[in-house]
Amino acid sequence: LFVVLEGGEGSGKSTQVREIAVWLREEGFDVLTTREPGATKLGMRLRTMLLDKAHAGMAARTEVLLYAADRAEHVETVIRPALERGAIVISDRYVDSTLAYQGAGRDLDGDEVARLNDWATGRLVPDLTIVLDLPVEEGLRRHADRPADRLESESLEFHERVRRGFLQLADREPERYLVLDAQEPQEAVTRAIRRHLRPLLPD
Ligand code: C5P
Repeated sequence: LFVVLEGGEGSGKSTQVREIAVWLREEGFDVLTTREPGATKLGMRLRTMLLDKAHAGMAARTEVLLYAADRAEHVETVIRPALERGAIVISDRYVDSTLAYQGAGRDLDGDEVARLNDWATGRLVPDLTIVLDLPVEEGLRRHADRPADRLESESLEFHERVRRGFLQLADREPERYLVLDAQEPQEAVTRAIRRHLRPLLPD
């Protein structure tokens, strides 16, 4: 079972990944938690390159390719092996982050970015993608105490396009998505995820 958490800055993805993993392990499942960008040794170097403020003006296509490289390495060396041994994999971000940030955010052709990512991942599609949705201002406020990165200088409109990007992806395939209001208390969001996940769990 491959589950992905997506959302903008400050949406609480990493907290939910942790909470859900604790619950599933208590239930006796083999769980692997992971994240993008930067889950592998090579990926950590790509993450540093991608988020370095010195690279603020990186070309949008370069950015897409670096994220795709990080993801190809992640899928081949971390995610697929874990799925093959029967683990539940929970990833903080995956292809939809690229479709939202680089596709919608930077205004690249969504179909082209999607095709490139199909190739990079060998068409590995999550069983469930959970979008933690939050008004942009609220997310950036929550995010403010984090170390600054290359995204710091992006406009509110950029983050609005990202938010709409995630919601449009969820709209297109409602059966494979769960959209939750990340303004709800953290425990309520965790409970909603658990309720939704329970019937999807292996025996
Ligand atoms: O999720 P996390 O906070 O680790 O993401 C690190 C940074 O990378 C964030 O600023 C996020 O907005 C950005 N990002 C991006 N494009 C992606 C994935 C993450 O711009 N595809």
